Amino acid sequence: MLSEGKGPRLAKALGVAMSKDGAVQVDVNGRTSIDRLYTVGRSTRPGRSQAIISAGDGAAVAIDILSAEAGEPFCARLIPTCALRPDWRRRPGRRS
Ligand SMILES: Cc1cc2nc3c(=O)[nH]c(=O)nc-3n(C[C@H](O)[C@H](O)[C@H](O)COP(=O)(O)OP(=O)(O)OC[C@H]3O[C@@H](n4cnc5c(N)ncnc54)[C@H](O)[C@@H]3O)c2cc1C
Repeated sequence: MLSEGKGPRLAKALGVAMSKDGAVQVDVNGRTSIDRLYTVGRSTRPGRSQAIISAGDGAAVAIDILSAEAGEPFCARLIPTCALRPDWRRRPGRRS
């Protein structure tokens, strides 16, 4: 996950798709045009940036990564507890 701020040089060097205004193009979960490469925050919205927006972007990416790893939608409510446990994966059969 990249969070380079105003000048996303690494993202550019890696060849991610960019918009005309210099933003790294991402979907709602922060996925870039490169598989498994995420970008968050000001790099993705140079014209409208606030600290809490960047933090929220990071949370969306975290949930997307956890969901990809689990192979199913990850229950965000479990993150505070499960982040501290090695067996964080949601128990089979448990619904969010
Ligand atoms: C004057 C000013 C006042 C502001 N006031 C407010 C405010 O009151 N409230 C508010 O919510 N927002 C405010 N903002 C906006 C806020 O600062 C940004 O929205 C927010 O910092 C964006 O966070 P970010 O993590 O996306 O990027 P950044 O905060 O820019 O963080 C990116 C970091 O990544 C580092 N970096 C870049 N490339 C690399 C690399 N290749 N490897 C490692 N590190 C790298 C950079 O040095 C930087 O530290 C203000 C901005 C400015 C300029």
